[in-house]
Amino acid sequence: MVLDISPVLKGEVRRQTFEYTVAPIPMRGIEFCDDAQVIGEITDDAGYMRLHARVHLDYNSHCDRCLEPVNGSFDLDFDRTVAAEGVLTEEQIEENVDEFVIVDKGMLDIDDQIAEALLLEFPKKILCDESCPGLCPKCGKNLKYGKCSCSEKEQDPRLAVLAQLLDKKDEQ
Ligand SMILES: [Zn+2]
Ligand SMILES: [Zn+2]
Repeated sequence: MVLDISPVLKGEVRRQTFEYTVAPIPMRGIEFCDDAQVIGEITDDAGYMRLHARVHLDYNSHCDRCLEPVNGSFDLDFDRTVAAEGVLTEEQIEENVDEFVIVDKGMLDIDDQIAEALLLEFPKKILCDESCPGLCPKCGKNLKYGKCSCSEKEQDPRLAVLAQLLDKKDEQ
């Protein structure tokens, strides 16, 4: 959505709030329940303008370790300095692409920047729980619901070598 922020630019108000939604960029393995909710404000501190927005996204996915369904939500803080079109050089914008939003004739369009920030910051690993132990690589049991018997049978390879040595000793 294009925001008309001329009231704050003209100094008529010191603070302007906004609230709307942005369509997230599709991500593999993630189903978005809805568009991202954006709640934010632009504040003017003696000509220094800042934009702060809180972006909220609900999603469905699967745990990367145990594959169980995960209904999660992700929140992102989006903070930028508001700069007028033409004030910054191309270089300055390119070098600080994460720092600025550019106002063009009183209008501000941050949808693409928000969608990109979401894509960038979205967790790379989805877990049902930080401590999810995952599936047993041998029998496939979800270890969240208790141990399987594989781990008991399994031996540390170093101990296995030791056991072999001991066996040989016994034979002698
Ligand atoms: Zn899990
Ligand atoms: Zn197992």
